[in-house]
Amino acid sequence: MPFASLGLSPALVHAAEKAGFVAPTPIQAGAIPAILQGADLLGAAQTGSGKTAAFALPLLQQLQLSATQGPGGPRRVRALVLVPTRELAAQVGEVLRSLAQHLQQPLKVAIVFGGVSINPQMLGLRGGADIVVATPGRLLDLVDHNALRLSAVAHLVLDEADRLLDLGFAEELQRVLALLPAQRQNLFFSATFPAAVQALADGLLKNPVRVEV
Ligand code: AMP
Repeated sequence: MPFASLGLSPALVHAAEKAGFVAPTPIQAGAIPAILQGADLLGAAQTGSGKTAAFALPLLQQLQLSATQGPGGPRRVRALVLVPTRELAAQVGEVLRSLAQHLQQPLKVAIVFGGVSINPQMLGLRGGADIVVATPGRLLDLVDHNALRLSAVAHLVLDEADRLLDLGFAEELQRVLALLPAQRQNLFFSATFPAAVQALADGLLKNPVRVEV
């Protein structure tokens, strides 16, 4: 099955080809059409399954289609990807950036994580961003510093939700969720589903499409 049959635009099919992706992986084949339709998604997938591109490609397509900044105004954060670690933030952010290069209308991807100085990240957010990839604690610090607003987020991704909880981010997650508009698309990925992860998914997702690989 080719990428084009999943509903992706020619620009994103091209981006997938440039990334060396020939055919969609099972998580991509299941998730991409559902995400493009605006559904919430519960993805049970391990690292290595291709889950990053499974949400990155349809997210980029949706952001291309929706309006971006007003005249002269800053870019408003329309997609937020929460991840448990700085390594994953860097990795997911780079995938988004490299796929986004092939789009006609440039999208700005900001990558923020804790454990390093906050000032360069604050500077990097000047002028706004279309997509923010973040660890939860640093994201909240940036909100507290007024470096970032989350009131226009229309798409939320929780990547490696089980590790987010394992690393003790439950409280930060709830604080972030309270800052987001109620009306939004939620994409939830986890390798494992112990009770606490299932409860988080149940509280977040509305009639999700389920994809297990
Ligand atoms: P992930 O599970 O998102 O960490 O991706 C694992 C690896 O698979 C990464 O190196 C991706 O570049 C690669 N990958 C993702 N989708 C595909 C695809 N459709 N075909 C070939 N490789 C892929």
